[in-house]
Amino acid sequence: MSDQVASILKGWGEPDYRLRQVEDARRAGAREWAEVTTLPLSLRERLEEVVPLWSVVPDALAESRDGTLKWRLRTADGLAIESVLISHARGRRTLCVSSQAGCALGCRFCATGAMGPGRDLTAREIADQALLAAAVAREAEARLGNIVFMGMGEPLQNTGAVFDAIREIHAPTGLGLSARSIAVSTAGWVPGIEEMVSFEVPVRLALSLHAADDDTRSALMPINNRWPIANVLAACRRYADRTGRRVFIEYLLLDGVNDSAADARRLASQLRDGRFHVNLIEYNATGGAYRGSPPERVRRFTEELQAAGLHPSFRRSRGADIAAACGQLANTPA
Ligand code: SAH
Ligand code: SF4
Repeated sequence: MSDQVASILKGWGEPDYRLRQVEDARRAGAREWAEVTTLPLSLRERLEEVVPLWSVVPDALAESRDGTLKWRLRTADGLAIESVLISHARGRRTLCVSSQAGCALGCRFCATGAMGPGRDLTAREIADQALLAAAVAREAEARLGNIVFMGMGEPLQNTGAVFDAIREIHAPTGLGLSARSIAVSTAGWVPGIEEMVSFEVPVRLALSLHAADDDTRSALMPINNRWPIANVLAACRRYADRTGRRVFIEYLLLDGVNDSAADARRLASQLRDGRFHVNLIEYNATGGAYRGSPPERVRRFTEELQAAGLHPSFRRSRGADIAAACGQLANTPA
């Protein structure tokens, strides 16, 4: 991947194994050059002057009542991004990484969308979020088991960097996570889904659908004006066929907006071909006009899907008390 440290070492005529020593040290959780003791002292000192060991540096950490950790990280050019580490049973952790510093797609229910566009993160900045979290998990005697691209930004608008970061996360010399432990979530950026069809690591794909008809979806997610539901589902089917994995359909339940029994039936009718798995998602408050569906409507919606032969999962929010839950990432003070 394009890595500043790699090009500096190369420019200085250092042998290839020096870069591997740096990578090993990052993976082992070294925080600064002084801790990369496999390098000669003089080389460490020269590096220290020209480039940071990490492309992102934690500058605030918040811990939720449920154990979720949220970092605010600074890029070298001073942008703030967030990553969220969620704890599960038996010491397993899931990391939610950011792919952009902001988001241009403006979904009405999302705090990142309200920030507006930011720049694409580099592969190094994405992979470093993962390596830092893996080191933190290890220090807590836990294991980073899953990485999901559900932090800030639309990963499929930044496929070059996202794919390179995934290659590193997946490689045995990187974090060695299996393809099925990595998930990319998209609002439906169809050219990016097409690129995933020819990407060699068959990661999981999640589509943020959130509505079963185009009018409702366009009102919630402006991207639907560009690629309506039928187009985006067709692209997802191609991905499912190529990988043999079901595509996750993320469906946020919003009271009175998309949660009627008729919505459930319309949703089911489009997803009945065995290529999809529906995740119903609890809405996390972002200060907008929406409210999450009450339990009774969630139950009714779920039953309609079940009656149509789908077996939805329900995803509860985690970390909402520190604004670390899905859709809440907007660099709020940690
Ligand atoms: N841009 C990508 C990935 C980041 S958003 C995408 O949209 O898929 C990650 C997930 O959080 C998406 O499924 C998104 O729809 C969901 N999300 C956004 N705002 C939310 C909110 N307020 N409550 C719950 N989920 C939300
Ligand atoms: Fe961007 Fe995803 Fe938020 Fe939509 S839901 S604004 S695509 S981060």
